[in-house]
Amino acid sequence: MKNPKNIRFFLITIGTTITLSFLIFSPPPFSNPLPQLKEKGKQFSPADIKKDFKETPKNVEKTNETCGCAIACMDGKAYPAVIAWQKKTYHLDSVDLITDAGPDGIVAQNKNSPIIANIQKNLELSIHGHQSRILVLAAHENCLGDPVSTEEHCEHLRKAKKIIEGFEFKELEKIVLVLVKKDRKTVIEISP
Ligand SMILES: [Zn+2]
Repeated sequence: MKNPKNIRFFLITIGTTITLSFLIFSPPPFSNPLPQLKEKGKQFSPADIKKDFKETPKNVEKTNETCGCAIACMDGKAYPAVIAWQKKTYHLDSVDLITDAGPDGIVAQNKNSPIIANIQKNLELSIHGHQSRILVLAAHENCLGDPVSTEEHCEHLRKAKKIIEGFEFKELEKIVLVLVKKDRKTVIEISP
């Protein structure tokens, strides 16, 4: 490749290949990004993100079904019991599930701002979009995401309730705390 024309052609080809690869393989921008948290060097404040929420879409069909909302662990051995208990106890047709690994611990510690922002965003959709009025905060024994004692789970639920109350969703009529026992079936209500 001693001919300067060949070298130029070679460089142009390499440059074009790199540019095209970047355009093809780079991930697309998020179509609906999480609200940007304002960094203030202070503790995360739910009020900071609330203003960034968009309106719930108006062209989503509404039904007459009654809906509740649950914040429960992603563990498939735990959340089905929560949903069944909530539907039966409050005579609901459906329950929106907001989930992560050990969300009682995540919300109680109030440190992971992106996860808490996502929980708040989904809760808002459930309350305003599905008219959810009963929120169940659930913990369960043998939780991988929040591997603490049963007593500590109860404390996490109580702390989490205070954080959720700080979101100030006035439409919420009730926040119920529950614990799923090791048998994966028994759901007990925890005093607030
Ligand atoms: Zn869990």
